[in-house]
Amino acid sequence: MTERAPYAAHPARSRGRRHAEPPAAPRSEYQRDRDRIVHSTAFRRLEYKTQVFVNHEGDLFRTRLTHSLEVAQIGRTLARMLGLDEDLTETLALAHDLGHTPFGHVGQDVLNACMRDHGGFEHNLQSLRVVDTLEQKYAEFDGLNLTFEAREGILKHCSARNARELGEVARRFLDGGQPSLEAQITNLADEIAYNNHDVDDGLRSGLITLEQLAEVDIFARHLNEVRAQYPRLTDRRLIHETVRRMINTLVVDLLEQTRRNLAQHRPVDLDAVRACPPLAAFSDEVLARHRELKRFLFHNLYRHYRVVRMSEKAKRLLRELFDAFIAEPRLLPPEHRARADADPYRAVCDYIAGMTDRYAIREHRRIYDIDELA
Ligand code: MG
Repeated sequence: MTERAPYAAHPARSRGRRHAEPPAAPRSEYQRDRDRIVHSTAFRRLEYKTQVFVNHEGDLFRTRLTHSLEVAQIGRTLARMLGLDEDLTETLALAHDLGHTPFGHVGQDVLNACMRDHGGFEHNLQSLRVVDTLEQKYAEFDGLNLTFEAREGILKHCSARNARELGEVARRFLDGGQPSLEAQITNLADEIAYNNHDVDDGLRSGLITLEQLAEVDIFARHLNEVRAQYPRLTDRRLIHETVRRMINTLVVDLLEQTRRNLAQHRPVDLDAVRACPPLAAFSDEVLARHRELKRFLFHNLYRHYRVVRMSEKAKRLLRELFDAFIAEPRLLPPEHRARADADPYRAVCDYIAGMTDRYAIREHRRIYDIDELA
């Protein structure tokens, strides 16, 4: 096992939690963070939240839960090879999508539009809100009371206005600077995971084809390699052998480029990492191919008419839910109703953001379907 690097986040040198707690021993502080995520309600909801395909469209497609597990797998590999803290990396991977709405990205767009005059909505900020405030499980505090490094890593983007409100954890969005390397690699592990599993899910769904993908350089290279080695291989095995080689190429390239950047900048500790330019990166050549694949998926999968059709239905459904709750907050379940007295828009937004796909569909039916009794 690689030794811990000087620039790694170190649980014993954490900037701590917002509410002081006794040490986590025998676990490290970051192990405790990771465990709190796994035991959270928001984490279990990821099982029924869309990545690209809505949960009821098929049992084998990725959900936000399996996506997060794949990010954690890639992130841990990278962390181990670079001597970083694996537990913090895993925490960030498992937490990175906790704030996602039902129905993937359209959910965020709808809620952001609904909240335009009321502070807006951003799923990444919502992830921090989930771990800071919305989880209600502990006797002494709201949220999960995670370490500063976990909270800093969860917050990937932030407007200046929100950054001023959030204080220290968001300071880099005002003053410049980077988060830990653990956060930087988790971010890229997220990209590696979704680009590759969306290829796999896209092919499985039949919305994209091998022939189309053969036009994409990074896919074609690995496909040809597999076909040369196993001329008779077809279907699932051919796809998986190609995808696993793509993942490997991206992970190895990311490792090598990041090592070059580390050798150039030589950060002596985590604070030095924060002051450097981004250190985790792909090489220019692989980045260009990775982006080509991203563009392909955007045009051919995420914009496929069948995906758009589902997204449009989801938009209408969420908008109608929002309107119904705002028009009549007494439709809210009691715990959300109580919060609506102080700020109805934020309470409704939090309630909808937390819903799984199927819960949102059921709730819409309960509110709008006259034959639905309860
Ligand atoms: Mg993600």
